[in-house]
Amino acid sequence: MSKEKPVALIGSEFGNISGSRNFKCSGCGLKIYLSPDGQQTKRLNPSIVLLCLTCADEICKILRREIRRDAQRNARVIILREGT
Ligand SMILES: [Zn+2]
Repeated sequence: MSKEKPVALIGSEFGNISGSRNFKCSGCGLKIYLSPDGQQTKRLNPSIVLLCLTCADEICKILRREIRRDAQRNARVIILREGT
């Protein structure tokens, strides 16, 4: 059975949401911000990769995926299907 798994979490270049914390993009090192919802997604998926929007777009092209909204939270993620 295949299972969908978020593999990348996309941060914002703007820390304008209250409670945002800054992290680094794994692709280019740019400073990115995660909202409290994004931080929660990261806690639930400890191996998730953090990306800025530019790097996420590149990865999406390579993987032929789209940036999606986390089902439960206000966070942008790239989902991969496991086991296919
Ligand atoms: Zn980047």
